[in-house]
Amino acid sequence: MDVLWAPWRMQYIVQCRDEGDGECFICAAVRADKDRDNLLLRRTRHSCVILNKFPYNNGHLLIAPLQHKAELHDLSDEETLDIMHTLQAMVELLRTTLSPHGFNIGLNLGRVAGAGLPGHLHWHVVPRWQGDTNFMPVVADTKVISQSLLALYDLLSGADPTEK
Ligand SMILES: [Zn+2]
Repeated sequence: MDVLWAPWRMQYIVQCRDEGDGECFICAAVRADKDRDNLLLRRTRHSCVILNKFPYNNGHLLIAPLQHKAELHDLSDEETLDIMHTLQAMVELLRTTLSPHGFNIGLNLGRVAGAGLPGHLHWHVVPRWQGDTNFMPVVADTKVISQSLLALYDLLSGADPTEK
């Protein structure tokens, strides 16, 4: 089995954004009124969805509680359910728009486990295609992906059946 999942890379990647002015980028995106600029795809009552600016693969999403919470046991029942529903909805959204063959869904708890932003829980949803491990290390380092992020954002927000 080929493994694309590389949490050590995420640590480096998210840390770069985390250490700028020390502000949590998820909280900053939630507070701001620039969802498209911040690639904030969806807000629910208790959670949000953000496109990863440094994706492992096309369609790599981050799902987080709106509140800045670091531990699973900090989440209320309502938040837990909301996040799980958001995960389900995002898998379906990616399935209908990008037709992946599978998904990696994961949560890194603590820096030792690869969490680049340990203060704010966030689940990674990474669509997978047959053979994607062959080209992704190359593609991920090009600027093409960051330019296509807004196009992907528009595709996903336009295709969202629950979008108001
Ligand atoms: Zn936060």
